[in-house]
Amino acid sequence: MIAGAITKGAGEMIRLRGHHIFCLIGYHGMGYSKEFVQNMTRIHQTLRKNPEIQVEIIEGPDPICEKYPNCGKYHCEDQNIYERDLAVIEKLGLSIGQVLQWEEIEERIRKRVKPSDIHALCQSCSWLSYGVCEEGIKELIEGKGLREIPEKTGI
Ligand code: SF4
Repeated sequence: MIAGAITKGAGEMIRLRGHHIFCLIGYHGMGYSKEFVQNMTRIHQTLRKNPEIQVEIIEGPDPICEKYPNCGKYHCEDQNIYERDLAVIEKLGLSIGQVLQWEEIEERIRKRVKPSDIHALCQSCSWLSYGVCEEGIKELIEGKGLREIPEKTGI
């Protein structure tokens, strides 16, 4: 069972698997289902409004995967997805279990990533061809934060 997306208490914490860091940077309000989009938008906007929030890098399915729709092939436990997580973690110089602020992750992306890196890191992803993830990294490097997503976003 996956714990709640945002842990409240002494300090808020968001648990993320490696490649979802990039998915959030490129997020434009698109997703697999209405419920998936609502959940991802909530996590995305929490990070956008609170860039100092703590993020724990975890291995395997995270609170974004939790709302992956039951219909269709569940890919969150596929070997190639774990490999993508690892590639992103290595690219950012992070490790599983590490806790750091979201804004520190953004800073690492600015220092270590080129927008075109996404083609190698995410080559098997069906969303890659939309170009929004590459564009999101470009915008981040240019000094913008996460995009504003309208609350009523859906598919
Ligand atoms: S290409 Fe796919 S895996 Fe890579 S950041 Fe975009 S949505 Fe995520």
